[in-house]
Parts: sequence; C-alpha cells; structure tokens
Amino acid sequence: MIEVTGVSKAFGQHQVLRDVSLDVEKGGVVALIGPSGSGKSTLLRSINLLSVPDAGTIRVGTSVHTFDGTRTRLPNDKQLSAFRSRTGMVFQHFNLFAHLSVLRNVMEGPLGVLGAPRREAQDQAMALLEKVGLADKANQLPQVLSGGQKQRVAIARALAMRPAVMLFDEATSALDPELVGEVLGVIRGLADDGMTMLLVTHEMDFARELADQVVFMRDGAIVETGTARDVLERPSDARTRAFLARYRHLEHAA
Ligand code: ADP
Ligand code: MG
Repeated sequence: MIEVTGVSKAFGQHQVLRDVSLDVEKGGVVALIGPSGSGKSTLLRSINLLSVPDAGTIRVGTSVHTFDGTRTRLPNDKQLSAFRSRTGMVFQHFNLFAHLSVLRNVMEGPLGVLGAPRREAQDQAMALLEKVGLADKANQLPQVLSGGQKQRVAIARALAMRPAVMLFDEATSALDPELVGEVLGVIRGLADDGMTMLLVTHEMDFARELADQVVFMRDGAIVETGTARDVLERPSDARTRAFLARYRHLEHAA
C-alpha cells in the first residue's frame, strides 16, 4: 500500500535521506525508529509530499510519484491535496484550529477539500469522535481538552478524509506519560480495523506489540529491518544495539 523506492533528499549540502526503500503492505503496521536527526520525519513528510524528494519513487495506493532531480514534476495543488488526504498524517503537535469546535475541526477537511455535503460531513465527524471516545466534547473548543484528547481529535480529523494509509510522527512524544495510553489505544484500534500504518515512535513496547515490521534508520539510511523481535531484541548492527540499550536505560530511569 506504501512503496518507497530509492528515495534521496538533501537540504543544501546535508544529505538527509540516502537511497531509502521501504514497503508497507495493505493492513500492515511498520514502526520506524532511530536517533533524532536520522531522517524519520523527512521520510514521512516525503511520503505525503510535504517534502519533495530529489530522487526516487513514492507510491501510496494507486498514486505514483517519481522524482529524478532534474525535471521534478509536482502534481498541481488540487491533485496534491487529494493525494495528501489519502495519506493521513498525525504529528507530535496536534495543529488543531483553535477557533473551531472539536466537531468542526473534524468536518473541515471533508467540507473544504472533498466537497462533502454538510450533513454527511457532520454525521461522519460525530461517528469518528465516538470512535476516539470524544463524542461528548464535540461542541467544545480544543483549548479545554487535554493533550491526549487533542491528539485523538487530530486522529479523527485525519480519518475523516478516508485515508488509505496513516502516518504517525511521534504522535505521543509531546504528551504527559499518563496520557500516552489513551492515544496508543486509538492507534491499536485502527490496527485492529486493518488500517495500513507507518509509525515513527519511541514507544518500544508498543512497536513490539503492534508492528509487523520494525525499521531502524540512522544518518538518512535504513540500517536494519525485520520483525520486532529481530530488530528490537537481537539487532545485528552494533550501533542499533547501542541505541536500544541506551533507550532501555532511559526508560528504566524515567
Ligand atoms: P528525525 O525525525 O529522525 O529526528 P528529521 O527528518 O527531522 O530527523 O531531520 C533529519 C535531518 O534533516 C536533521 O539534521 C535536520 O536538521 C535536517 N532537516 C530537516 N528538515 C530540514 C529543513 N527543512 N531544512 C534543512 N534541514 C532540515
Ligand atoms: Mg522527527
């Protein structure tokens, strides 16, 4: 469902992605881990074309975009927003519209981008708020919500575009520890529904539980890929081992 082939990206002299290839099959869950600055966010942003690769091919469902550095042809704005709506993205910071109710936040994309009828957009938004456990907050402004609740609204908002895949970029990293579980619970529910997902996460236990495949990135390249057991418990690469050992140490210290 997601196919990244030979993707490279530089910012000036700084090569941030180096010939990255990665697949997520339909209904699959892949966890992307690695140290800060290794290119995880840039890879996710490349998949929904928020960041434009210098080279390589990005396929999501039936949409294919190929970049060769010289004559990169981007889709027009309309095609781009249609494509982005098919690749739901959830960020560390929720970016909700502060002046709109929770319900309106979830309705906005279908109304504005997909041109859905108001009634339909509203019914769907209510159903999604129900799904993430926030139907009772529909008419509140985001400011009254906790971080965990805001992130659940952000997930509902992405789902309202009926995405073929969901990309999560450290969706729980900005949350107080006691709020992490409720967001992971919603993501777990999506996995149970068969949603195709690529998650950048530092929640190693969650990755182990949910991911069919764990991919470890360093310095813009994928250095290890395999089942959660293989990558998290017996990584073949010494530096992956060192990263994970440091992580365990931090987790236990926290
Ligand atoms: P990660 O998510 O793994 O922490 P990022 O993809 O955010 O890594 O960043 C990878 C590298 O690319 C970092 O060194 C970062 O400073 C650099 N980078 C990211 N975005 C930009 C940008 N828009 N302009 C210049 N450098 C960037
Ligand atoms: Mg990042």
